[in-house]
Amino acid sequence: MTKHIFVTGGVVSSLGKGLTSASIGMLLEQRGLRLRMQKLDPYINVDPGTMSPYQHGEVYVLDDGSETDLDLGHYERFTDSVLNRDSNYTTGQIYLSVIEKERRGEYLGQTVQVIPHVTNEIKAALNKAATPDVDVVIHEIGGTVGDIESQPFLEAIRQFSLDVGKENCLYIHLTLVPYLKAAAELKTKPTQHSVGQLRQIGIQPDILVCRTERSLSRDDRAKIALFCNIPIEAVIEEKDKDFSVYEVPMSLVEHGMDELIVRKLQLKAGALNLDRWRDLLHRLRNPQHEITIAVVGKYAEHRDAYKSIYEALDHAGVHHRAQIRIQRIHSEAVERDGAERLLSGVNGILVPGGFGERGIEGKLDAVEFARTRGIPFFGICLGMQCAVAEFARNQLGLERANSSEFDKDTPHPVICLLDEQKTITDKGGTMRLGAQPTRLSPDSKAAACYGATDISERHRHRYEFNNVYRQQFVAGGMRFAGTSPDGSLIEVVELPDHPWFIGVQYHPEFKSQPTKAHPLFAGFIGAAIRHHNAGQDKAAAQ
Ligand code: GLN
Repeated sequence: MTKHIFVTGGVVSSLGKGLTSASIGMLLEQRGLRLRMQKLDPYINVDPGTMSPYQHGEVYVLDDGSETDLDLGHYERFTDSVLNRDSNYTTGQIYLSVIEKERRGEYLGQTVQVIPHVTNEIKAALNKAATPDVDVVIHEIGGTVGDIESQPFLEAIRQFSLDVGKENCLYIHLTLVPYLKAAAELKTKPTQHSVGQLRQIGIQPDILVCRTERSLSRDDRAKIALFCNIPIEAVIEEKDKDFSVYEVPMSLVEHGMDELIVRKLQLKAGALNLDRWRDLLHRLRNPQHEITIAVVGKYAEHRDAYKSIYEALDHAGVHHRAQIRIQRIHSEAVERDGAERLLSGVNGILVPGGFGERGIEGKLDAVEFARTRGIPFFGICLGMQCAVAEFARNQLGLERANSSEFDKDTPHPVICLLDEQKTITDKGGTMRLGAQPTRLSPDSKAAACYGATDISERHRHRYEFNNVYRQQFVAGGMRFAGTSPDGSLIEVVELPDHPWFIGVQYHPEFKSQPTKAHPLFAGFIGAAIRHHNAGQDKAAAQ
């Protein structure tokens, strides 16, 4: 019988439910349990594919091409749970399915209502994650208890324990215990209210995770336990981590989280093995190099917009024992102030993915700076397309070369839509999404990084390299290091005469893990360390 853990949040949003859920998942996996993770999002969008990165952070793409919430990135970084389109449901998706059924007449004339029709649809979604090969499913409920949108989800998870048996369900509630400076006290009232709201719906949490700036005293925990009707050992502190998010699982273990879950759900679990994780934290805490990487994007000020990229850089840092200082640089600032001023002194330049024209010229300036100064360069998706346009303009002399996404009238659309895409108007209809195979040339730098020539990586883009220009680029010195297996689509470009200059049409950042850095990120950071050391040697010689 599969067991279910429901993670809800209260008091405020952005408490780190995703990270906490992923950390719990990791601990259960390290106790030998077979895990599945699932996120339920109360917003009405059918998926986050149409949401602005400003509002919602990055769109995380799975192998099967689903565009999902960025919390699924935490799940894949922390655990080996297999994720697919059943791993993320939104209110929009649930209602869409209910309304389609209604139109097909499947409700046989009934009045279609939130209870039971919408809640049944949610329960069906919960069940999809509980395949027979899984011991535990962690279902994270997005939003905050008390939100109007969350209510059908909370009602569904309440009903769910009646369907599958109370002994098979565990409710974990994450709250905030704020510290009030004026009173010099931690305040438990918001937690009491939030649990009160859950109990009104009929959910009594089994475990409370209390996010806090300061450690909770035994008295604080006793008070929360009493008011929230929870045994004191199930009031778990999760103190803010100023060092790394990868400390969260350790702190949960310290407070007995894995043992509590195993006991309450009567799971047959092995002993906890955290050797790999301890090694990761040791490497993070004891770096041997320090380098600076500039990430030149259009959402520079928004931490979550390039979440997986920043994480993947950190993983490569762990791999090389390098502390990476990330400079988030706005591509429009490069247009205004110049690449020289903003990028001098960095050891690597990464141009990430993106959509829309704003800031493109600044990205091209950043590429040119990296290319002409021999600074390691990594272009991802739009970043690769910028590398192609820059090369066309400044190396091949193709004036105003551009992607037709940004300049409809460019005389040289070196990046363009494929003919078969041109007639489709539905947003998303033309998008190339999900895992696709790529064949690398054996003599390429990319193949050396991967240690393989046949790879699979995730995509999310519309535009492609324009094959009309292939010969010209090759003659000009660009290497097409990777293509689709039939050779028709360019996937990887390189400059063989540059210390490290690689652009990829796909998103390698989605497949990097803290204990298994992505080969291209590891290669890029290795090159940045060499760039840094060479700079030091030069300085010493002067
Ligand atoms: N806007 C570009 C395209 O659609 C790049 C997309 C991306 O970087 N994810 O092809």
